[in-house]
Amino acid sequence: MIRVQAVAPESLGAALELIPGTELIAVNDRALEDFLDWEFLTADEQFVLRAKLPSGEEIEYDVERPEGLPMGVTLEAPRIRRCANHCDFCFVDGNPQGLRQALYIRDDDYRLSFRYGNFATLTNLKPWDLERIVEYRLSPLYVSVHATDPVVRRWLLRNPEAPEVISQLRWFVERGITFHTQVVLVPGVNDGQQLVRTLTDLYGLGPSVLSVSVVPVALTEFSKHSLVRQPTRDECRAALATVDEFAARAVAERGAPWCYGADDLYLQADVALPPAEWYGDFEQRENGVGAVRYLQTRIKAAWQQLENQQWHGKRIGVVTGTAMGPLLPQVIADLSAATGANFEILALENTLFGTSVTTAGLLPGGAVLAALRGRDDLDLALLPAESVNDDLLFMDDLGAHDLASQLPMTIRFSYDFADVLADGTMDGWKSGTNRRSNVPSSHRSGGPA
Ligand code: SF4
Repeated sequence: MIRVQAVAPESLGAALELIPGTELIAVNDRALEDFLDWEFLTADEQFVLRAKLPSGEEIEYDVERPEGLPMGVTLEAPRIRRCANHCDFCFVDGNPQGLRQALYIRDDDYRLSFRYGNFATLTNLKPWDLERIVEYRLSPLYVSVHATDPVVRRWLLRNPEAPEVISQLRWFVERGITFHTQVVLVPGVNDGQQLVRTLTDLYGLGPSVLSVSVVPVALTEFSKHSLVRQPTRDECRAALATVDEFAARAVAERGAPWCYGADDLYLQADVALPPAEWYGDFEQRENGVGAVRYLQTRIKAAWQQLENQQWHGKRIGVVTGTAMGPLLPQVIADLSAATGANFEILALENTLFGTSVTTAGLLPGGAVLAALRGRDDLDLALLPAESVNDDLLFMDDLGAHDLASQLPMTIRFSYDFADVLADGTMDGWKSGTNRRSNVPSSHRSGGPA
């Protein structure tokens, strides 16, 4: 059973008089378990819906769905599938005490993998899930492989029950499912020959494995440092050499690199990033793969709009994590040329998780506040949109409005700079106003799995 949270006006849901709180029980006598059932089973032109209104009245609707008319029904949030693993590098273990409860949830949910691109390990699938993935063609899925040697993978996941991932992927591949995959690189465990084996096995599954990214393990001050460490510069270089070998083979045989190093791997290896063309459609950019080149591409595409706006001479602070700090100057140089504004990069240390956490998306509001408070010299501050959730809360629960009320400049949340600067307005959060920011609704890709 699933429940209605909201119904859009002028939708089929509104025409059926579904209201918040309505329980959606079955479509064509098939019980509804979650949003996937709802979306797939109501996609037909005709179906019978059984529902129970908040009053307790049970109704059966004979629905004819005119082409193009949306159902317009928002469902209550699904119960997240919990993870069955206990990786030493799990980010959840790396959280400090006292954060909101949701940040301690280890999700490993193939449904969110399909919908939002969260990585899942597929170690908690039941036979019913396997059938469902095939029946609904949930493709592509994003899978944390880490290693294809079953012993090494079970060690990394700390899960002796984890199924053999290559057999599992092959079963899906034979049924038409495709994957983007990742390897979180743990030095001394799945690098070196293990990385070669993993990439060889994944490549051997054919083009249904659409891509593989190699991402250096990220640890916080609170992680299990006695069990896992970050790779050295030379280990990152060695991993990149392996990535390059497989990418060269894939370019020759399949016309695209297929195997990518995360931006962070290049950064830690102190090696220049490949050009934007290398990343094709930037399909793993939310996993930090090609993110810098993607930003540059977006700025280039919006160049004319950026030139036409009134940013000339404005002073704009760009807040980011320390990972992007060294990479941003090349992006900001393009932005300055297009807009005529003066940008200042504020690469902030993470005061919540420790200095080893360098990604912008995990910056606490408190660090942003400390960096921007009293900065009367800035007209605008651009903050990473990934650093707040859908309720506009930072990791430390500071809200965007609270933050803005303590700052002298307007703040706006941005994914790629062009999304904010191309509209030419200062319409964001500002102390003493109640205006909503531009925060686009977002999800966090690349979940902890
Ligand atoms: S890193 Fe992912 S797979 Fe590993 S324990 Fe954490 S949530 Fe589970």
